[in-house]
Order: sequence, then C-alpha cells, then structure tokens
Amino acid sequence: MTIKDLQPALVWNIFDQITKVPRPSKKEAKIREWLIGFAQEHNLEHKVDAIGNVAMFRPAAPGKENVKGIILQAHMDMVCEKNKDSKHDFDNDPIETIIDGEWVCANGTTLGADDGMGMAIALAVLTDPAIVAGPIEGFFTVDEETGLTGASNVGEGMLKGDYLLNLDSEDDGIITMSCAGGIDTLATFDYKPLAAPEDLVYFEIKLSGMNGGHSGTDINTERACATRLIARLLWDLRSSVEYELAHVDAGNLRNAIARDAEAVIGVKDFDKEKLSVAFNTFVATVKEEFKNSEPNLFGTIESVDAPAKVIAREDAERIINTVYAAPHGVLSVSLELEGLTETSTNLSSIKMKEEGVIEVVTSQRSAVESRKYDACHRVETVFKLGGGKVRHSDGYQGWAPNKNSKILKTAVKVWSDLYGVEPKVEAIHAGLECGLFLKALPTLDMISYGPTLLGVHSPSERCHIPAVQKSWDFTLGIIEAVTKE
Ligand SMILES: [Zn+2]
Repeated sequence: MTIKDLQPALVWNIFDQITKVPRPSKKEAKIREWLIGFAQEHNLEHKVDAIGNVAMFRPAAPGKENVKGIILQAHMDMVCEKNKDSKHDFDNDPIETIIDGEWVCANGTTLGADDGMGMAIALAVLTDPAIVAGPIEGFFTVDEETGLTGASNVGEGMLKGDYLLNLDSEDDGIITMSCAGGIDTLATFDYKPLAAPEDLVYFEIKLSGMNGGHSGTDINTERACATRLIARLLWDLRSSVEYELAHVDAGNLRNAIARDAEAVIGVKDFDKEKLSVAFNTFVATVKEEFKNSEPNLFGTIESVDAPAKVIAREDAERIINTVYAAPHGVLSVSLELEGLTETSTNLSSIKMKEEGVIEVVTSQRSAVESRKYDACHRVETVFKLGGGKVRHSDGYQGWAPNKNSKILKTAVKVWSDLYGVEPKVEAIHAGLECGLFLKALPTLDMISYGPTLLGVHSPSERCHIPAVQKSWDFTLGIIEAVTKE
C-alpha cells in the first residue's frame, strides 16, 4: 500500500506527485514548472507573476457565473530538514513517504505536507469534475517559509475572488480568522571604549536556563526575557557596587524570546563580596518571581581575566537605562476575540558590534495595523531618548479579526453540520500569508484551516490521514454553501 491508495484518492494522488518534485524555499523553479504543466494538462488558464507565484483559474459552471469567487491558496515551498544520517538531497531527490498507522510521514526528512497537502487539496478542487460551482482559483505562493516574499509581492491580477481559503493551518477542527502583522525595530548605540582599569577584578555573570519560545505565540506566557533581565540586573547592581561594564550580550534570534544573557563587569577588590551578594540576591528574587514559568532559570558568576576595554561609565549607564526602560511583552489584548494577544513587543537581543557600537534588536506584532506602528514608534522613541540611532524593517501587514466575516460564518456552519461539533475559531499572534494578500486585494474575506500535521519543519513531520478526508469534505462543503448563497 502506498499513499496513492489512501482516501480521498484524488487528493493523495496529487500529493504523491508533489512529493516527487523538489521545492526548497527560494528554489521553487521545479515545482513551478510542475504546476504550469498541471494547468496545461487540465486546460486551466494560468498566470505566473514576477516573483514566481502561480495562479490557476477554473471557470464557473454554466449558470454559476454570478456565484462569488473562491481562491484556494497554499505555498509551494517547503522546509528542508533531515536527520543527521539521512543522505537525502532536497534539490533533486523525491520525498520518500511512509504510511504509519493513521499517519503519513517521510523517511528521515520533512514530509512537506506543510504546505504540499494544501496544494493537493487546491489542485484536486480545480480538477474534480464532480464539483459544480462558481469561479475557483488556485493560488500558489513562493517562499512562505523564509520570508513571505511571494505573499508580499503578489502580481497584478493574480488574485481574483471574494473569498480566500488559506490551506496552511495544521489543526483539524480549528479555523483561523486573524493573524498579526510584524515589524522590527533596531537601535545602535555609540559608546566610548576606554582602557580597562587595572585596579579592578573582573567577573562574568550569566543568566541562563530560561524557556525562550516564539516571540509572538509565546509572548503572553509570562516567561522571562533574558535581554530584559540582564538590563534589570545591571541597573540593580548599581545601587550596591560601583562597577565598569566591559561586555554585554543577550538573546539571539529576532523572533525568539531571549533565553540567555551575559555580561562582564569589573569592581574594586574590596567590593567582590558585595557584588556576589547582590548578584545572588537578584537571582533568588527573579527565580521566585518566575517560579511558575521559569523553573530552570539560574545565574552564575565567575572571575575572569581583565578585558582590554570597558565601556565609558556614562555610556554604559545610558544604554542600560534605555534597554531597561524599553517595553517588553504584551501591550494590548483583543476585545474582539477572548485570549488573543493583540499587540506585543519583544526585546530580542543586545549585541556588541564593532568596537564602540552596541545593537539592540526588538520586534513588534499586532493584529491591528495602527497599533503595530504605535508599538514600534514607542520603542523607537525610548531608544532615541537614550541616544540610539533607530531603523525599522519593512514589516508585514496583519489580518484583523472580523466576527462578521461571511466566509467564517459559512465555514463554522459547514463544519458543525458535517461533524456535529462547532469548530474552534482562533486568531494567532504570529504571521500568516493572509495579512499580506489584503495589500493586493483589500476586499478579501478569508479563513485559514488544514488537516492536522505534527512536527512541522522537522524530520518528524506527519500528516493525519483521516484529517485529510475531513479537510477535503469541509472544503467541498464550503464551496457548495457559497454556490447556494
Ligand atoms: Zn506552511
């Protein structure tokens, strides 16, 4: 038995073909050629835009020309991860699929059901002769996984429709109705490097063991942010001992909550004890504060050799004060949808760049576009007050929750009728391609859903076979309901 024997056969047969075509992010040429071939073979009008997205159009059935248009959308690229011992070549080899009970997985690699299964469902709809409906489009984007560049650069006339069904969610029974937009705010602070005083003893202090997590979806979990904690520690220590700051470093990825931080400071020999007491008191205090969210938080202090340079005292104070004053965490919660973080900011990292420059990276997210800018302007202002030079990334647009969305109401009813339970309707505090489509077609009414996938972006990625049938029936149900509207 192979995946071609699974039900619904049309969907699994197309998915089987997709798994044979290499499609790493930013290397979509092969899968694009395959998609164009598919459109030609099925006599579907199709279009490719400058960035490489592909659109295919299935015309309305006779008499259904006035039915609202539905766009089925998925991304054509996949995350390419494999086990250490795998010899798989993602640029050339087909993905080897394995049926494991109710699941399909790959042999030591990512499966690419994210979002190959979304593509398969869309392509199956475009070619299933049993469907009688209005105009249907399949829209396939490039590079969702490493930059959302396909969705950010949708060509003129690529999106034609009233409703968009994004097939890139991973939980059976959950319909997503909103996502956050994001922007990064980066500040550089100049400081004067001075020769390290020789009459000081130097210590490396570290704060570690924190959970970290996703800067959007985990920002409301009250986890400790190492970047914020090191600023707080360095601010606090000043009330106990005089010190010189030689080095500071915290966090790493822009879109992660910082897990570790370290600093090197120098104190007078007679202040050694005071420093150690103040440090241990600080660690005990924050351990108590975060006992529920950060049980593994710990701090270490070790003597180290004298560094060559320290940061001029007034510059060090200014930069630490500024980072300490900068907001971090949830800034507003949604009153549209209970439990949704609406706006947040993450103090991602502090890094010493070339001599004389410290860089602080932060990222802001919001479901509400104006609040995203409010958040990033506020962070910018704090940094500028502290003498920082500030720049922002281009950012991407969010997708605000709309309880009156017609397609959402239709989808909830279809799911409830099919499965006898209401689906969960969720908003996520992270980016999806949906927000970006609003730039190309502001009137789009959208939802996002898909069959259950586990372990996405890792070699343990697996797709739940019964959930594919459910997603397929759900899709057909939505199309039928829209056709009757
Ligand atoms: Zn995806």
